[in-house]
Formats: sequence, structure tokens, C-alpha cells
Amino acid sequence: MVCTPITLPGGARGFACGPRRKSKPCACGSGLPATQLCDWKTPDGPKPTCDAPLCRRCTHVPAPDKDLCPTHAEEWKARQR
Ligand SMILES: [Zn+2]
Ligand SMILES: [Zn+2]
Repeated sequence: MVCTPITLPGGARGFACGPRRKSKPCACGSGLPATQLCDWKTPDGPKPTCDAPLCRRCTHVPAPDKDLCPTHAEEWKARQR
């Protein structure tokens, strides 16, 4: 259980308590939780997919239920030509 101090709209302060959220803040600095993972296949990598954590602001969605990090979104675009 983790309690996080929050400021409610209107300035009231409180604590949001709950089980630890899996999603960490995204590395892009938006402060949004990284709720998506890059689905780019990396057959040569240590993992089958890139798995870069992405928030909803920096994910790219080339197809339903697919997410791509900015790097792989560029690569995907390049391959469409
Ligand atoms: Zn982000
Ligand atoms: Zn990626």
C-alpha cells in the first residue's frame, strides 16, 4: 500500500492510498504514467519486443492494440514507403 499526497481541485489536500501502481511516470517528462509498452518486435534483442514504457502522449498507435515508442514509430513510418 502506497499513500501519495495529492492536491484536489480547489486546493484541498489529501492522500491517495492504494496498491502500488505498476506504471511509473514516463521518461518523456510529461508526468503521465507510462501505461503502454512499445510493441515493436526486436528478434535480436534481449526481449521479444522493445517494451519501452510510454505514456498516452508519446505512444504512437499504428494499429489497434499496438503501441510504438517515438524511435520505432519513425522506423515504422520509414518502412511504409
Ligand atoms: Zn511520455
Ligand atoms: Zn520501441
